[in-house]
Amino acid sequence: MTLRISEIFHSIQGESSFAGWPCAFVRLSGCGHGCRFCDTAYAELPGTDMEIDTIIEMVAEIGSPLVEITGGEPLLQPEVHPLMEKLCNTGANVLLETGGFLSVANVDPRVHRIIDLKTPSSGVCKENNPENILLALRQKSSARSMFEFKIVVADREDYLWARQLLQETRLMDACTVIMGVIFGELEPDKLARWILDDRLNVKMQLQMHKYIWPPDMRGV
Ligand code: SF4
Repeated sequence: MTLRISEIFHSIQGESSFAGWPCAFVRLSGCGHGCRFCDTAYAELPGTDMEIDTIIEMVAEIGSPLVEITGGEPLLQPEVHPLMEKLCNTGANVLLETGGFLSVANVDPRVHRIIDLKTPSSGVCKENNPENILLALRQKSSARSMFEFKIVVADREDYLWARQLLQETRLMDACTVIMGVIFGELEPDKLARWILDDRLNVKMQLQMHKYIWPPDMRGV
């Protein structure tokens, strides 16, 4: 069983409740959604076909207990599921970062799902898969939610869209919701003010790797 891989690398997790931890990243090739502010457009390139066992060996060589499967859109390749299962079986703490267009219903329950909610400025807001919110709400009673959602805003319109969605769904009561700014598009202090003024119970976060390394650097 093979997967198309864009890159495998070791870096600091930058955008989730795991931000700051060293992490092994497996970036799968291919997405096709064309979000306006995509910062991994190079993942659209064909990449390299790799056996699942080879990927697991490379991750083991990195030696990080935290492993993130990302993209592109990782859920486009069905073989991602056996990859995640095998990584969980090694004892790794596995994260899945997905654009949120596809359902995460079939993801191994041991995997922590980090799901984007795309805002109007992305141009693909209508493609958010509502099933992912329903799945998170249904899991609300469990001790530790394996869901978190990430909303990156470029302007006030995006923020108001997000606020309405969160207030209507009460998603913030079910799991962590991360909110941040699109790097270079919106000043972080504006978003902070809006969140505080509205008493919005979200975790504000900036894309840590873009402050550590040059914002357009690959493999970080
Ligand atoms: S879903 Fe992610 S990888 Fe795909 S185009 Fe959008 S930002 Fe880029």
